[in-house]
Amino acid sequence: MADLQRHRGNFRWESVDLLPYKEGDSDSCSVTRQILSDGRDGLPVQLRYFEIAPDGHSTLERHRHLHIVVVLRGGGQVLSGSEIVDVGPLDVVHIPSGTWHQLQATRGEPLGFLCLVHRERDRPERPGPQELAQILRDPAVAAFVRP
Ligand code: MN
Repeated sequence: MADLQRHRGNFRWESVDLLPYKEGDSDSCSVTRQILSDGRDGLPVQLRYFEIAPDGHSTLERHRHLHIVVVLRGGGQVLSGSEIVDVGPLDVVHIPSGTWHQLQATRGEPLGFLCLVHRERDRPERPGPQELAQILRDPAVAAFVRP
């Protein structure tokens, strides 16, 4: 028997729940999360599909663990450190450890992407007032970011 979760259309998969973006985070209703794989012994990763509604955004955060992001649907922009890049379907973005990052659905369409993480990972950190001031010192980042 194949270990298969079949795509059932419109970026939903069989036996995969549509979850809120983050547990207990009530101000992030513009983002949904689906856990496509919780990894396997010998491959301790989690593969998630996130979808950001048009004009929505992920949280501005950083953490020690890395992300590999593969855009599947729509497009938008990604902040990674001091860089802001346009992304569209099948683009691959690596978010390094300890880097402030945020994804935004800036094309008036949803931004849907796979995000691969280690199964055991540290919790994201949000910027405090001093860190935010530091982040906003870069004018391009200040114009982009939604704290
Ligand atoms: Mn993150």
